[in-house]
Amino acid sequence: MAWDFETDPQYQEVLDWADEFVREKVEPLDLVWPHLQFTPLNEARRQVVDPLKEQVRRKGLWATHLGPELGGQGYGQLKLALLNEILGRSQWAPIVFGCQAPDTGNAEIIAHYGTDEQKERYLRPLLEGELFSSYSMTEPHAGADPTLFTTRAVRDGDDWVINGWKFFSSNAATASFLIVMVVTNPDVSAYQGMSMFLVPTDTPGVEIVRNVGLYGERDNEGSHALIHYDNVRVPAEALLGGEGQAFVIAQTRLGGGRIHHAMRTIGLARKALDMMCERALSRKTQGSRLSDKQFVQGYIADSYAQLLQFRLMVLYTAWEIDKYNDYKLVRKDIAAVKVVMPTVLHDIAWRAMQVHGALGVTNEMPFLGMVTGAAVMGLADGPTEVHKTTVAKQVLRDYQPTEDTWPTEWIPRKREAARAKLADYLENEVGNL
Ligand SMILES: Cc1cc2nc3c(=O)[nH]c(=O)nc-3n(C[C@H](O)[C@H](O)[C@H](O)COP(=O)(O)OP(=O)(O)OC[C@H]3O[C@@H](n4cnc5c(N)ncnc54)[C@H](O)[C@@H]3O)c2cc1C
Repeated sequence: MAWDFETDPQYQEVLDWADEFVREKVEPLDLVWPHLQFTPLNEARRQVVDPLKEQVRRKGLWATHLGPELGGQGYGQLKLALLNEILGRSQWAPIVFGCQAPDTGNAEIIAHYGTDEQKERYLRPLLEGELFSSYSMTEPHAGADPTLFTTRAVRDGDDWVINGWKFFSSNAATASFLIVMVVTNPDVSAYQGMSMFLVPTDTPGVEIVRNVGLYGERDNEGSHALIHYDNVRVPAEALLGGEGQAFVIAQTRLGGGRIHHAMRTIGLARKALDMMCERALSRKTQGSRLSDKQFVQGYIADSYAQLLQFRLMVLYTAWEIDKYNDYKLVRKDIAAVKVVMPTVLHDIAWRAMQVHGALGVTNEMPFLGMVTGAAVMGLADGPTEVHKTTVAKQVLRDYQPTEDTWPTEWIPRKREAARAKLADYLENEVGNL
């Protein structure tokens, strides 16, 4: 009987430390340097951020998603989930703990598929927190269906030459390198004909045409780049993994990325619930506190239940990843988590915003940012609809069609079979009447 929902006391102490550290030392950075977490540190920020990173390292919490051979602690996904719940409250916290998206996923695939030279050049500084990376896959005309991508790399002697367009390459403007997914062989299926390249951002021909912002951000201050790859020449050693391996690599990357987003989303949704409860207890209207109104109690109960369900689902999936050590085997549950995540964050943030009245929709409270975040979670790493399709296909694998006109659970036939099975007893029953 191995089911156990308890955190071991030693690790709980570590989590308690992280909780206080994030609240006291890291959340202030969100207020004084908002949205700058992916911008290389200037002198002032370095003086504050480097010592915080050092404290995290000394506590053994730096890059906990990675094994010790890569500079992490090898804690695994379940422990990371418990930590990420805390980090999810703050924009800066993942940076200070060395486990920010998209760098975690990018580091993971270089660790899995990179050559020693690639690891030395890209992975080591990435893990040191010295540089940022960008994942450049989506194209302006196609995102959810990667088989439609057209950005092309053509072999030219010892080099590859890349041409095409990519859209929504997050953090490209501040990244040192891009991981680009391109067609290398258009004559075979996309699943065999696409490859990944590691491309330094300053390679001639990499042109960031504009940085698209999310709603509310100012023009060209966004962090999602439209990139023109215009005759970008890279050596053969820039290929990540084998030629034609892009889909396999993408799955490794996106599996981890999606569950990490979910872990952090728990933290953000809990922050919204905390704020909703405080406001409900504090505000009075029509003779009683908001917390005494049944509608508001409904908001709180629904939010608590949704968060609890989601949290258990995420922790269970993290536990499965640790157990099987293979994202493919946990694909169904990772996709299910991805499907549920935007709704959970949206619903809880929306209710919390409503309970705050007019103040809730202002830029003095974080709720509309959370609602936008929920919308983002329904798109980034693939739209909800596509993940629902994945869940359904995986679920259906465990079922067979019936040849009969009537379903297996058709009661008249089952009742007849049950009667036949229990005929002796039924006869006695009638005889005793
Ligand atoms: C904040 C943010 C950050 C991102 N960061 C990156 C990044 O770093 N790198 C990167 O490469 N990409 C990134 N993306 C892009 C993201 O991966 C794509 O937005 C996503 O894959 C969907 O592609 P699309 O936007 O082209 O939508 P489309 O593919 O055009 O789909 C549009 C809509 O059509 C519907 N739809 C699509 N397919 C199906 C289907 N099979 N069944 C039913 N309905 C369907 C869905 O409603 C979907 O939302 C990011 C996106 C966001 C919002």
